[in-house]
Amino acid sequence: MVKEMGYYDMLGVKSNATETELKKAYRKMALKYHPDKNPEDPEKFKLISQAYEVLSDAKKRKVYDEGGEQALKEGGGAGAHNPMDIFDMFFGTHSRTHERRCKDVIHQLGVTLEEMYNGSLRKLALKKNVVCDKCEGRGGKKGAVETCVTCKGSGVQVHIRQIAPGMVQQMRTTCGECQGQGERINLKDRCKQCLGKKIMKNSKILEVHIDKGMKDGQKITFHGEGDQEPGLEPGDIIIVLEEKPHKTFKRKGHDIIMNLTIELVESLCGFRRVIKMLDDRELVITSHEGEIIKHDDIKVVRNEGMPTYRSPFDKGRLIIHFTVKFPESGQILAESIPKLESILPDRPEVMVGDDVMEVNLTDYTPQSHHGHGHYGNAYDQDEDDYHGGRGGGVQCQTQ
Ligand SMILES: [Zn+2]
Ligand SMILES: [Zn+2]
Repeated sequence: MVKEMGYYDMLGVKSNATETELKKAYRKMALKYHPDKNPEDPEKFKLISQAYEVLSDAKKRKVYDEGGEQALKEGGGAGAHNPMDIFDMFFGTHSRTHERRCKDVIHQLGVTLEEMYNGSLRKLALKKNVVCDKCEGRGGKKGAVETCVTCKGSGVQVHIRQIAPGMVQQMRTTCGECQGQGERINLKDRCKQCLGKKIMKNSKILEVHIDKGMKDGQKITFHGEGDQEPGLEPGDIIIVLEEKPHKTFKRKGHDIIMNLTIELVESLCGFRRVIKMLDDRELVITSHEGEIIKHDDIKVVRNEGMPTYRSPFDKGRLIIHFTVKFPESGQILAESIPKLESILPDRPEVMVGDDVMEVNLTDYTPQSHHGHGHYGNAYDQDEDDYHGGRGGGVQCQTQ
């Protein structure tokens, strides 16, 4: 069956993406292509919202997976909401200026796993609009502000044009006299600090406290620290944390997962290793006497995982996923084999009858399995099934 992939591609996820993966992808894309940050391409923001709206809804996703965009359209389910509403629902923000409030501003902040483990203080320099303090947002001296005569304070001029006998066309344009402000100030009374604009750009240092145990996607809100406008309440600044990938550890809730490759001799005869933690402490782990660590075994160190947000002494687990490195072919000399055999558990006894055929065992490659892949996608699919059927490789099991 051919599956439509457009919505998945739009968010940059695979077609089997989980809810968490979808959320993360939407978060990243929506912030990147938000019209405030990317005014040249408003269409992209709309498409991202549409894709997320469909894929985050189990019913709509099913319809899409089975019949594509066409099926959604027929069901009336494609892109039913305003992209800004979806954005606001997701981030809990106000993207549009409400009657009495300025827009909220969202910033994404990349944070390392170390910072989330140890806590940290980050300082962000921001530029924002503030109401001019000299004229208190009037734009000039008290009483110097007059309503614009041309537009009578509306900021808009209406032109009426006759386009045919009995037919007129109304055209609305921004008032040229006051540039749409609806008022004018005599040049000599104009505020010298803001030049009559009422607002000014201001630099501000925001101190963001990353607390121990904070997680990817967590929001830190600075109430009233957003842009200001005369007569309106200021908006909020919202910082959304984005956890950066770590080269050794992978976080899963409160647990941290790591891969540890050990030699065959360590697997059979015991091992001792040092693990450097996210706070630079060094943990020594030792296998129990007589214990054999098999390839793909998973062991746990309690209370060495991530701290819990607001209860940092409660920690999750450190989960260690073992890979046992086997010697390469030829690495064990022929004369050593009997020595090994005398130690290892016995071979099974194999009875070989008379009526048998000796065949050749060769290495597996996907090409030799299926001729030369005449079947396009079906061929790729098969290859996936093969790996999937074995419970996944070592690399993908810790996901
Ligand atoms: Zn001013
Ligand atoms: Zn005017």
